[in-house]
Amino acid sequence: MEFSLLSDIVEYCKREKKDMAQAMVDYEMRNKHLTREQVYDGLMRVLLVMEDSVDQGLTQQVISPSGMLNNWAKQVYNAPIETLGASLKKATARAIAVGEVNACMGKIAAAPTAGSAGIMPAVLVTMMEEHKIPRERILDALLVSSAIGLIFAKNSSFAGSEAGCMGETGSAAAMAAASITYLLGGNEEQILEAVGFALKASMGLVCDPVGGLVEEPCTTRNAVGVANAFVSSQMALAGIQSLIPADEVIFATKEVGDLMSPKLKESAQGGLANTKTGREIQKKIFKTVE
Ligand code: SF4
Repeated sequence: MEFSLLSDIVEYCKREKKDMAQAMVDYEMRNKHLTREQVYDGLMRVLLVMEDSVDQGLTQQVISPSGMLNNWAKQVYNAPIETLGASLKKATARAIAVGEVNACMGKIAAAPTAGSAGIMPAVLVTMMEEHKIPRERILDALLVSSAIGLIFAKNSSFAGSEAGCMGETGSAAAMAAASITYLLGGNEEQILEAVGFALKASMGLVCDPVGGLVEEPCTTRNAVGVANAFVSSQMALAGIQSLIPADEVIFATKEVGDLMSPKLKESAQGGLANTKTGREIQKKIFKTVE
């Protein structure tokens, strides 16, 4: 069973009269020789790791070894000012929580990568809380996000060293946008529109980690990726169409990644890593570590 494009998955859904989650269960069962139960057991393990990482970042002391991240998630979660209601504030805090746990070498679910691991948990935990969605349904949303990840990995790249942060937080935002759209009743076409919007907003996003550590700007970029996912899904659910089909947007991310300077692809030689302050922080960190 082979899916090369998102449109192949949509075609399969129409032909088999299944939704995208069910299509991905079929894919997992056939290609990995798993039972349905094994597929869902694996997803539940992933979801529990995601929930735990959010919880840890919001309840425990999380100061990264470099000192760049210092209990920011709790600070955001408990902030008295809300720019747009409690939901967005909590979702923002949850994404940062996972970034902080990752920086402290805690256990996270790389979805799709460690650097972008905050977006999916923040979105899914927030959807569970805000919309009272049971875990079983969230597992189906994870399957939908896996469909996006599968095609993105085939036709572009998750690696910051190949596609910049567009490949990491950009793809995670697209996967999360697909999940939200699915959970709120969007059809396959709307799921793909949400993916297109999220990726277009991330097009050309560089990978420029200060000191080469997955902390700054990674952690706050995850938080912004959450907003991207919710906004992209909102537009898709309202019926707005992305003029460029999602599959073509994915091909464009590959082209843009290939065109990006190596200085902007995880080498810590350009962008924020190469600012005066970025270099000073780098010097300080590595002196301390030595
Ligand atoms: S800046 Fe680079 S290392 Fe950080 S999340 Fe983005 S791609 Fe990953």
